[in-house]
Amino acid sequence: MSVAYAAAQRAVRQAQTNQIFQRDYVMRIVLLGAPGSGKGTQAKKLMSERNIPQISSGDILREAVASGTRFGQQAKDIIDTGHLVSDDIMLGIISERLAQPDVADGFILDGFPRTQKQALDLEDLLDQLGVPLDAAILLDVKFDILMKRLTGRRICSQTGKLLNVYFSSAEELEECTDAGGELVQRKDDNEEVIGSRLAVYRSQTEPVIAYYRSRGKLLTVDAEGTIEEIYERINAALSQATIRK
Ligand code: AMP
Repeated sequence: MSVAYAAAQRAVRQAQTNQIFQRDYVMRIVLLGAPGSGKGTQAKKLMSERNIPQISSGDILREAVASGTRFGQQAKDIIDTGHLVSDDIMLGIISERLAQPDVADGFILDGFPRTQKQALDLEDLLDQLGVPLDAAILLDVKFDILMKRLTGRRICSQTGKLLNVYFSSAEELEECTDAGGELVQRKDDNEEVIGSRLAVYRSQTEPVIAYYRSRGKLLTVDAEGTIEEIYERINAALSQATIRK
């Protein structure tokens, strides 16, 4: 039995002991989409408006990197090249996260699953927990827009606000610099790493879309436009999905 599998089993037992999946109203969704499709932005919005936790595999990994552990150092080397952390490790991380009490009302998975193996592992995990997934929402964006979103993406060092040198207004960008902040680029947002992340997405993550389509769980949303417009479309798509009450 692998270490990650054993950790997953422990997490399942803990979730069952805590009876964290006993509430009536829940929304459990996976957000799918290429890097730059806006998964993180929309997940945060869903989280704040529906009060359901966003589980971002990228954020969890970046926290591990920041904590400076040996695992964090290994994860950093992988993230910096745009490749994927192993499926086994991801299963361990996600199963531990899904055993936390705050997922009782549901969750929004952002960045996981990213391979077909991860999608199968997630299905097994949710089966063991006795909680089905409601929907997988695909945020659909054309390639040239993805490139601009990724190469132009910046984070304000002062306010933490997400900005984009192509799409944010001059006022928004100045608001950051006027407050003494700098527009910082994520290390894996340079063109070489972006190329690698998009290639990995095509070869490893696109099959996950077919996987959810074949299970009748896929909802495709046009993810070009303003954050508000896209959010409206996600809500319209979700209202068609069977969310148990
Ligand atoms: P993100 O913030 O979702 O773009 O993730 C940043 C990086 O973290 C990715 O390019 C991968 O190196 C790694 N990562 C995030 N989620 C996963 C996952 N589900 N499986 C493997 N690697 C991941």
